[in-house]
Amino acid sequence: MRRKWEFDVSEAVRIHAHGGAEALVYEHVPLPEPGPGEALVHHTAIGLNFIDVYYRSGLYKVPHLPVTLGMEGAGTVSAVGPGVGHVKPGDRVAYAGGPLGAYATDRVIPADRLVLIPDGIDDRTAATMMMQGMTAAYLLHRTYPVRAGDWIVVHAAAGGVGLILCQWARQLGARAIGVVSSPGKAELALANGAVAAVVGYGSLAAEVKKLTGGAMVPVVYDSVGKDSFTASLDCLAPLGMMVTYGAASGPVPPVDPAILGARGSLFLTRPSLAHYPARRADLERYAGLLFEVVRNGAVKISVNQEFRLADAAAAHRAIEARATTGSTVLIP
Ligand code: NDP
Repeated sequence: MRRKWEFDVSEAVRIHAHGGAEALVYEHVPLPEPGPGEALVHHTAIGLNFIDVYYRSGLYKVPHLPVTLGMEGAGTVSAVGPGVGHVKPGDRVAYAGGPLGAYATDRVIPADRLVLIPDGIDDRTAATMMMQGMTAAYLLHRTYPVRAGDWIVVHAAAGGVGLILCQWARQLGARAIGVVSSPGKAELALANGAVAAVVGYGSLAAEVKKLTGGAMVPVVYDSVGKDSFTASLDCLAPLGMMVTYGAASGPVPPVDPAILGARGSLFLTRPSLAHYPARRADLERYAGLLFEVVRNGAVKISVNQEFRLADAAAAHRAIEARATTGSTVLIP
């Protein structure tokens, strides 16, 4: 349990201006007491996400500067403000999504974003699976509900979201074609549920055509953005769903809707974790689906890299250099 004076200060990684990894500053920041509807969480583990890079660089807007980065963590509730009923001090909790502020030893957060971590899932796993796993949950269950027998294309298949998507697709009876940048990553995707792996985008559509006997796929989950967008469209069957959910290589340039018609009445969507689990009932649904597949072993969360929170800059450099696989944890 926290002592009173500890409400006053947290150690955190903030940016004072947008920039490269060197913009991340480890420092003491003021820590308010939780207000109405809020909880104070003492982090034991924090998840690193590629999205953190977008907020750092300025691709995504931050509410103010300086700001503490980070969208995902796990730990223990230290205190709650008035009107908070579903969590109490001592509870083991995790969360993902806004508001920013996870890169800290302690933080105040709207309590309705917290879920209890079930027995059998440790904090390190919980901290790294919420963002990537709930994203996989809504992509596979809502954006395009995958059916047994579907062929699907998964980009960055050896990454955090990618490894989860491939395993979960296998559990649903779908056949994931993983797209990666190296033979080593191809092996990893294949070991985690992908039925085929393609290195690079150059021959992607041709490989997909071969694998699917010319039928192509009903959905592409594309987190790479600029570099892969056109190759992804080329993989889709008529009436297929192009899901552009990330921009690791940079944002997709403006699109003329006519290209969707010409390629077979395609659908194009740009979904976000900010919206799918916005309502508490949906957050509980997606978290519940995720906890179930992790607890029953269908999806294994591979926490392949660990950094001290104070070394967040090194973690950012690694994920930007495509040097990480699976998930990455920051330990405060
Ligand atoms: P990853 O672990 O997947 O890391 C990013 C991967 O993107 C790299 O490993 C790399 O894989 C690939 N990549 C392709 N081009 C580049 C490039 N130019 N620079 C760096 N990496 C590149 O990250 P996460 O699992 O955290 O996130 C995956 C994606 O999902 C991100 O784009 C993120 O923005 C998105 N996302 C979207 C959400 C949403 O709700 N819309 C929520 C959560 C994540 P390889 O080397 O194999 O190409």
